[in-house]
Amino acid sequence: MSEQELRRKLVALGKKAFEYGLLRGTWGNISARLNKDSMLITPSGFEKAALRPSDLLLMDLQGNVLRGRWKPSSEAPMHSLIYRAREDVKAVMHTHSYYATAMAVVGQEIPVLTSEFASAVGHRVPVTRYAVSGTWDLAEEVVRALGSGKAVLLRNHGVVAVGDSLEEAFQTALLVEDEARTFFLANSMGYAKPLGAEDVKELREAYLRNYGQEKRRLTLKL
Ligand SMILES: [Zn+2]
Repeated sequence: MSEQELRRKLVALGKKAFEYGLLRGTWGNISARLNKDSMLITPSGFEKAALRPSDLLLMDLQGNVLRGRWKPSSEAPMHSLIYRAREDVKAVMHTHSYYATAMAVVGQEIPVLTSEFASAVGHRVPVTRYAVSGTWDLAEEVVRALGSGKAVLLRNHGVVAVGDSLEEAFQTALLVEDEARTFFLANSMGYAKPLGAEDVKELREAYLRNYGQEKRRLTLKL
């Protein structure tokens, strides 16, 4: 994908995230891997619904701005370190979506409750230990807690979702928020009983077998 097309998609994703209520105000940030050693990332202090492709910054994965006129997102270290640790990751999305953030504040991991989550994410979402926003310390803690997974809760802060495309990172961020809301609602009515490990494994394997088809079904139009 060309840099221009990736810029256009990232900006479209920012708008979509507002429509879905995943991002508000100037909070949250989104990035996409351009190649092995660089990424495009949202600037600091911008409303993500109002971004233009030229507002995005091109950065290397050591924290240096290669091109762009604004200050990069303060969470650039976290995005960089995820790309350095995970070659399979092509996009990273960080949100403060309501229910998932509430769980991050409580320090409660999100268990796998629904078949949709088991299929498309396939693992519980752990909580990091607390670290200060925008630091390499937080970046290292996120990479550690994320492991080979697709999402993690940042203690007293929010959500990080990753994917092999911008669309997949977005889907995961959305599914994480929905699963956290389901956890809250189900617990208000009784006990939110997680799916068993075997059931999660079976659903995830079936999803991966039908990956192409499932992916088309879930993929957003950017
Ligand atoms: Zn944040």
